[in-house]
Amino acid sequence: MKSKHYTVIGLETHIQLNTTKKIFCNCKNSYGAPPNTNICPICTGQPGTLPVFNKDVLRKALVFSYALNCKLNLFTRFDRKNYFYPDTPKNYQITQHDYPVGYDGEFYFYSEKGQDSIKIKSIQMEEDSAKIKHDAGDILIDYNRAGIPLLEIISEASFHDINNIMPYLEFLKRTARFLKISNCNMEEGSLRVDANISISTDKNIIPDYKIEIKNLNSFIAVKNSLLYEHDRQIELLSKGKKLHEETRSWDEKNKKTHLLRKKEAISDYRFIPEANIPPFLLSEKEIFALKSDADLTPYFIINNLVNNYHIELKQAYKLTAHKNLYEYFIEVSKYTYSYKKIINWLLGDVVFNLRKADITIDEMKLLPETLAKVIEMIENGELSGKLVKTMLPELVKGKDLDKLIEEKNIIIYSKKELERTIDKIIKDNPKEVKLYKNGKESILSFFIGKVMEETGDQGDPALSKEILINKLIK
Ligand SMILES: [Zn+2]
Repeated sequence: MKSKHYTVIGLETHIQLNTTKKIFCNCKNSYGAPPNTNICPICTGQPGTLPVFNKDVLRKALVFSYALNCKLNLFTRFDRKNYFYPDTPKNYQITQHDYPVGYDGEFYFYSEKGQDSIKIKSIQMEEDSAKIKHDAGDILIDYNRAGIPLLEIISEASFHDINNIMPYLEFLKRTARFLKISNCNMEEGSLRVDANISISTDKNIIPDYKIEIKNLNSFIAVKNSLLYEHDRQIELLSKGKKLHEETRSWDEKNKKTHLLRKKEAISDYRFIPEANIPPFLLSEKEIFALKSDADLTPYFIINNLVNNYHIELKQAYKLTAHKNLYEYFIEVSKYTYSYKKIINWLLGDVVFNLRKADITIDEMKLLPETLAKVIEMIENGELSGKLVKTMLPELVKGKDLDKLIEEKNIIIYSKKELERTIDKIIKDNPKEVKLYKNGKESILSFFIGKVMEETGDQGDPALSKEILINKLIK
């Protein structure tokens, strides 16, 4: 009998917080500055310096912990993780070990297909390390990254399907962006993942090893490296080999993982409390005050759109892909109640034209009130959807709606005018009217064609059809 394999995966996701300053000094927290320019004696670990904690980091950590439904530690503190490596000039990293900000959470997330959740073990604050670059035999170190605040989100090892990992990461990213705690830009390294994977032959037995793949900086690298490790481990296990704890890296070019080191036991880090930063004693009142900052998550928004506005999940999911897109929708919805129509136009032709013109939603010049007006005009039969499609390339670039209507010699057809035109068409085509009345429904397209002809494509087909049917059956 073929043996079944059970995959056990846990993720450690690092998110760089978007504070203006670093976590323990006044250096700028920014990306892309020339190497070693955002540095000072503190973040380069000079002897005799003392860290001064940036409280904005704690605020953001608490907000994110709320959003992931974590319990919050009222007593929380930093610990030292001792290790010797040039990316950490102090020879230890200031992180959290025993009393992380958040613990025992559950993160609910959506994909286009539905809802899922994963247990969160802990959320901890820590400092980022310097960036090491290998360059033709030289090792170059950029300390600009040292001391940038990080949140480490540690999931329980309860992923069993590699396909669930992308939706989790995608939603984690959206949540951080909606709550304005990080830009989660993977190209800039502000979201990085370490993944643990092990395989069991028995669903009820937790494997006695785990293999960690370090520093994955794209979703596709996370997926491909896990698929590779999954197959590699199954192959070794099926040959009767025993697997041990180890840390591996992902080789994007050759699509393979490589052994970095046999993993040190956790006690090798010799965690000790960080004596230079006093522990935090938080009050219930203090942290409760932050709860409302964690309210507007994409999870809450999607629930609201689907349950209260009857928007399809797939569309609600797409609308929350970018915070700015969702915010634009909110602006348009202040001027018209046709929520579904707004979403259809936004996700369809507006996004299409923006892409075509290489404009972001932020740069778009089409005012929310103008889009709302266009949608209302379509509803009232004054403009056809077909015509609006031809106008959008100019509208997204900021062309004035009234000017465009004038330039294109568009006659605005009100419902009344459309009715008058249709009355005339019915009068002029008695033969076809008779055919329709005798049951030949397909003749409707002939009438719609006539309406388009008469109005120069400006009568709305859907509305014309509605009026035609009403009039023809009389
Ligand atoms: Zn500094």
